[in-house]
Amino acid sequence: MAGNRTFTMIKPDAVGAGNSGAIIKMIEEAGFRIVAMKKTQLTKERAGQFYEVHKARPFYNDLTAYMSSGFIIPMILEKDNAVEDFRKLIGATDPAKAEKGTIRNLFAKSIDANAIHGSDSDENAAIEGSFFFSKFEQF
Ligand code: ATP
Ligand code: MG
Repeated sequence: MAGNRTFTMIKPDAVGAGNSGAIIKMIEEAGFRIVAMKKTQLTKERAGQFYEVHKARPFYNDLTAYMSSGFIIPMILEKDNAVEDFRKLIGATDPAKAEKGTIRNLFAKSIDANAIHGSDSDENAAIEGSFFFSKFEQF
């Protein structure tokens, strides 16, 4: 059975452009409950740890430089079928291919600066959530 939690972070382009409020509104209106949330900034090293799975990819250096370039807003979200439903809400990685009305369609600038992250499995949602929040901050 699909789990009921996912992890997201609003990326530096969207926070910097002042779009975090509009994005959080869309998330809540889509039925997700915010379990944990904060505003923070990653060092390049910590961004590298977060995206460790992409270490061998050609875009890894740009990705970690970009993800440490400004404030981000990580969140743990709750809803039935959370991982899959949230990926639908954010749209494809490349905003040029993201379906109309999705968060990336509305707010992403490019494949690098693509506004928001969404976990791709229940397992990764749990790992990514604990990367940013201690169990004492979750409820
Ligand atoms: P995210 O993990 O950020 O939610 P995603 O799951 O849609 O995005 P991934 O394949 O996990 O996509 O890639 C992680 C991030 O790396 C993407 O959000 C994007 O910014 C960047 N990325 C992925 N593929 C490319 C690419 N071909 N060129 C440049 N950047 C890329
Ligand atoms: Mg991913």
